[in-house]
Amino acid sequence: MGRARRSGVHGLPVCGRPRVERPVSDDRQSIPRPVFRNLRVFAVDPGLTARFETAVMNETTLRIPWEELDPGPSGEYVVVVDKDESGTTLNPPVDLDRPEVLAQDGLPPSDGSPQFRQQMVYAVAMRTIKNFERALGRVMHWPPCGDAKATYRQQLTLYPHYMENANAYYEADGGIHFGYFESGPEAVFPGTVVFSCLSQDVIAHQVTHALLMGMNVEFDIGTNPDVAALHEGFADLIALFQHFSESPVLRRQIGAIRGNLEEQTQLGAVAPQFGGAIGQPDGLRNALGFTDAEGNWHPRRPDPKLYETEVEPHARGDLLVGAVFEAFKKIYESRVDDLRRIATQGSGVLPEGYLHPDLRDRHRRRGSRSQRPSPLSRRLRGCLSELRDRPGRARNALRRHLAVGRSRPQRGFGSGLGVRQDARASPELLEHPA
Ligand SMILES: [Zn+2]
Repeated sequence: MGRARRSGVHGLPVCGRPRVERPVSDDRQSIPRPVFRNLRVFAVDPGLTARFETAVMNETTLRIPWEELDPGPSGEYVVVVDKDESGTTLNPPVDLDRPEVLAQDGLPPSDGSPQFRQQMVYAVAMRTIKNFERALGRVMHWPPCGDAKATYRQQLTLYPHYMENANAYYEADGGIHFGYFESGPEAVFPGTVVFSCLSQDVIAHQVTHALLMGMNVEFDIGTNPDVAALHEGFADLIALFQHFSESPVLRRQIGAIRGNLEEQTQLGAVAPQFGGAIGQPDGLRNALGFTDAEGNWHPRRPDPKLYETEVEPHARGDLLVGAVFEAFKKIYESRVDDLRRIATQGSGVLPEGYLHPDLRDRHRRRGSRSQRPSPLSRRLRGCLSELRDRPGRARNALRRHLAVGRSRPQRGFGSGLGVRQDARASPELLEHPA
């Protein structure tokens, strides 16, 4: 897929560093190039490592398409630049092509290693890009550089340690900027430094913004709250469905809730460590439910009436997330129904205690499949294709789906993380234009 990308598109000149092909060895041995590169990452974010029950399983290995990399990492689609907002270089770049790094599937997960953070940002960004390419069946591009005289943008720039702030945001001309901050007294672990670049959800969310912009969707930004809300809702959905990829964490979580998505779980939480650090124990947003002041869990029930009043982009986009997850839960339930009947001899009521490991694994596999070759994922793929081909029609379909009415115009397009204004982030950093 990559070769078609190197010459750019539409005859645009290429901005940024051109890729240099390395010479092929004339060694007599013919060894094919690797197909994949394995890279270790945190399965969710470093927060799970701090909990005893999930400490040993908070690592997973991502299998991403092979490409030769320069230190950074710097590849065909993305470049990781370790500079802060003043332009100061902070840490030496990781070289993922070093033999000792390659042989160990990358650096081991550690929130204390700047080079691991560079690796994780690269790995999760590439997985998100490849998921889009698989869904759409074509290579992805970034929005072009400049306004008056457009040039082809070869790489998206990722800044893992850009600012000391509880936020992360995407700018079309600047790339993705990840912040870091110290958790406050309201957090479970006060005084911990939280890196947004170590959250799979934050990385996937921000890269999705860039991918949607690169699809040249003619969003009429600023005219309607649905525009920004669609961006935010899609970005959260892409991050959330990646929770249901096969992993030890998914196995543990499905076992803990005994296969019942109505029970309290972190599977629906967007950026749980980040949320916990600013006093939101269920994550920045949660597709499956919420915990009340008494500590009781309530499964989420979508409320179409909120569409009439909610205009903040992340909260409005969350209405779409709630609707899609309601459908996801129904598909999942229909797929595990027979398992429950067999396991309970027809009563449907599971006995107390742990699920049998075989039954747990069947639930996990069916949960994972419910977001892949299913009516739901076909619908999401259809939405992406519709966005690409007929953006106006897609927007109208979304409006119908959310049940609808006209909405008030709004100015600006914030693509930060949607941290609550009363939380610890500086309000000005929540409003970076995309
Ligand atoms: Zn966003």
